[in-house]
Amino acid sequence: MKAVCFEGPTKVGVHDVPDPQILNDRDAIVRVTSTAICGSDLHLYDGYVPMVEPGDIFGHEFMGEVVELGPAVTNLRVGDRVVVPFPIACGGCRSCERGLWSLCENSNPNAGLAEKLMGHSPAGLFGYSHLLGGYPGGQAEYVRVPFADVGPMRIDDDLTDEQVLFLTDVFPTGYMAAEMCGIEPGDVVAVWGAGPVGQFAAASARLLGASEVIVVDRVPERLAMAEEKAGATTVNFEETNVLLELRELTAGRGPDHCIEAVGMEAHGDFTAVHAYDKAKQLMKLQTERPQAIREAILACGNGGTVSMVGVYGGMVDKFPLGSVMNRSLTIRTGQTHVHRYLRPLLEHIRNGDIDPTYIISHRMPLTEAPEAYDMFKHKNDECTKVVLTP
Ligand code: NAD
Ligand code: ZN
Ligand code: ZN
Repeated sequence: MKAVCFEGPTKVGVHDVPDPQILNDRDAIVRVTSTAICGSDLHLYDGYVPMVEPGDIFGHEFMGEVVELGPAVTNLRVGDRVVVPFPIACGGCRSCERGLWSLCENSNPNAGLAEKLMGHSPAGLFGYSHLLGGYPGGQAEYVRVPFADVGPMRIDDDLTDEQVLFLTDVFPTGYMAAEMCGIEPGDVVAVWGAGPVGQFAAASARLLGASEVIVVDRVPERLAMAEEKAGATTVNFEETNVLLELRELTAGRGPDHCIEAVGMEAHGDFTAVHAYDKAKQLMKLQTERPQAIREAILACGNGGTVSMVGVYGGMVDKFPLGSVMNRSLTIRTGQTHVHRYLRPLLEHIRNGDIDPTYIISHRMPLTEAPEAYDMFKHKNDECTKVVLTP
């Protein structure tokens, strides 16, 4: 089959690789009908996530048709259309029982390595490094889905792939980001990053009752989308001092909640601190450029919540811990517990509360993945989200 494989930093290729096989009784093989490229894939593509090797198959946002089932999967049938959450979860461990699906205790075969870096291991994820399981991803014609009796959700035929594909990740991620804020009527929510995750965070903050949503980015068409679809006030971080602007917009108090949907490759304000971050990241002395999370913390109003869904991999420095402590901020974060949100968010799509297709800017064949990655990374041709079809 054809699959999108890592070749080295900023290089992917579409390669012929062996078809996946059923390895365990609870596996399914899914023929992928639609798959998307995520900001999280860019961190792998750019070479900032440890333990990604040439030949690794990328992709954690995918859906398709079940073509083969292990004998223990009794809730699905061959021919079912399914969306598959990006975290792999067993459904039976203590984390899964508590709804913390991205922390499944049984899905990362390389847990020992993750423990060395992080203290404890999170769940395995599709197509997301050997540190997180080494599972082949779904930017491919076929994919093996472990614990298929737990993760995949069947989709009725009246909904298109594009309507439901983002249930695999970015819609639940934006929603969880907003939910973690504990929004109350009257609250102002600011979102850093107007990529797909930031878009859905802004839209979800609205769904959850925020009075005002402010979105920070520098890409004009992304800011325009947040304005149009989530009624957001927008701030271009290249044109203004974000901290001052946010004070001005909130009577000096700062937003009640700040969502960070940027992650480890933030662009900077061109200050010395950003130059220092960039140099340290390039020299592998730190794994992240934490500009956006720093700014979200400093901007957040006293007693507020900083909800961080941007992905980080390792260590940062110049982290404003004193600001968090002295001002009673709450930091909430995580890889999304996607399984929790599948059905409730499907209902929102069915009810017409939101039509997630608006983030799609490009539809391309899987074979054009190298061009698609390059375009999405550089935001060329007003690219906001690419859907690939095998
Ligand atoms: P994206 O790359 O399309 O969007 C990131 C946006 O951040 C871009 O529009 C960029 O211009 C903007 N940005 C860069 N520096 C900024 C700054 N200093 N201030 C404000 N905006 C800035 O990616 P995406 O798909 O929207 O994903 C966003 C982040 O969410 C990534 O880190 C991704 O890994 C992460 N993510 C996390 C989860 C999870 O489970 N927690 C799931 C999916 C994605
Ligand atoms: Zn993703
Ligand atoms: Zn589990």
